[in-house]
Amino acid sequence: MGGCAFDVSDKPHEACGVVAVRSKKDAASYIYYALRALQHRGQEASGIAVYSGGLKVKKGLGLVSDVLNTEEISKLESKVGIGHTYYSIKVSKPENVQPQFLKTGVGDIAIGHNGIIVNSGILVSKLKNEGKHFILESEEEAIIMMLSEQIRNTNDIPKSIKAVCKELIGSYAFVLLIDDRVFAIRDPYGIRPLCLGKMKDGKGFVAASESVALDVLGADFVRDIMPGEAVELTEDGFKSINIGASINRAHCFFEWVYFARADSVLDGMSVYEARKRIGWRLAKEAPAVADVVVPIPDSGRAHAYGYALGSGIKMNEGLMKNRYIHRTFIMPSQDAREISVREKMNPVKAVVEGKRVVIVDDSIVRGTTMKRIVKMLKEDGHATEVHVRIGSPPLIAPCYLGIDMTDRDQFIADNRTVEDIRKEIDADSLAYISKEGLVEALNIEKENLCMGCVSGEYPVNIPGERRRFQQTLEGFT
Ligand code: SF4
Repeated sequence: MGGCAFDVSDKPHEACGVVAVRSKKDAASYIYYALRALQHRGQEASGIAVYSGGLKVKKGLGLVSDVLNTEEISKLESKVGIGHTYYSIKVSKPENVQPQFLKTGVGDIAIGHNGIIVNSGILVSKLKNEGKHFILESEEEAIIMMLSEQIRNTNDIPKSIKAVCKELIGSYAFVLLIDDRVFAIRDPYGIRPLCLGKMKDGKGFVAASESVALDVLGADFVRDIMPGEAVELTEDGFKSINIGASINRAHCFFEWVYFARADSVLDGMSVYEARKRIGWRLAKEAPAVADVVVPIPDSGRAHAYGYALGSGIKMNEGLMKNRYIHRTFIMPSQDAREISVREKMNPVKAVVEGKRVVIVDDSIVRGTTMKRIVKMLKEDGHATEVHVRIGSPPLIAPCYLGIDMTDRDQFIADNRTVEDIRKEIDADSLAYISKEGLVEALNIEKENLCMGCVSGEYPVNIPGERRRFQQTLEGFT
């Protein structure tokens, strides 16, 4: 029988985490620890670029701690640098690992990117027609070429960044090193998160995808980088450059629901509190007659706590996760796949036996794992009923803006009703939070959220897809 790639986690993957640092010394060490704090945003590849009289880059396939060790870090002595963690099918080629860099006529330029540039194909073709030679044909390589061209023409880096960003359609949180100048840049909609911190005792400044990276460095959170803002980290602090915000924002709702770490604060909102409110709202929208609320570890924990508070049913840990199984394997048979799920998760009989159980998770993609968990709770845990509650609306459309959900076919909710899905996963009941409920729980106007994967309407022009109603602000200051 042929092998089958089966992801037992059945979760979408965040594409990347980024970090930029300016410090008095040891920038690489700070970047290293910040990247480890952002490891949940990408586990396939990692890299650091620093500048000290010249660009030095260390990157490779694997976790941050696999790619970089203390000896490597000590060789990267510098005051400025950027770092990147990556999840992407693109990194099957090691040269695609970020930061990507080029030595150009106007300086050494390195970039780390979280997001997707939707019009990158057009930009690459345009540059090729102008006679530029690509090595990777990546969007990052195109951005570096566009930047170097602008800097050559204007001799003004902030102006050049602004001009290049005006050409980009899509989502981006960039960290950028141009010789010894370091920048962090967020797209006009603020789709992916990016924040600023100040290290204690005058040690320096940091920008990172999530505030948890600042916490690890002992840095004080200063503020989120605004949509349409580039920030230069300088020796004295920050310099803000307006690259042009959209009237409406389009923060990715999934960052709060699943991707970001629960201990992060994104755009002024605690991820943990947001998940708790979602669970609470779900309990009001979709109550269940049950004895115990059980979180799917670890993704459903805060949602389940909120559901328990909202329903008055006590929460208990009825599923245990083996924390040491990280990788997805190629499993040759059905038996092996069943073992693989059990190896990752096991019911706590003392909690679920003879009970009516509500299990709570953030989302369902394919539904394969949820189906096995329901079966496991009933057959191995002897639960009498299993009710499933989900903290996001059904996923029905691809993400083009930085998350690896690219195929409609992968979604169990594609062209299926909730009742169809309930039958498929063999639950006694199934409910997802409504879109309105989610928006209320997040406490952000729906005009300022991206909900493309649950609505099929996107904040930017995507060929063949609908764009949500949105006026844009032209004419930047
Ligand atoms: S489509 Fe979904 S996952 Fe992608 S950015 Fe929008 S909300 Fe986030």
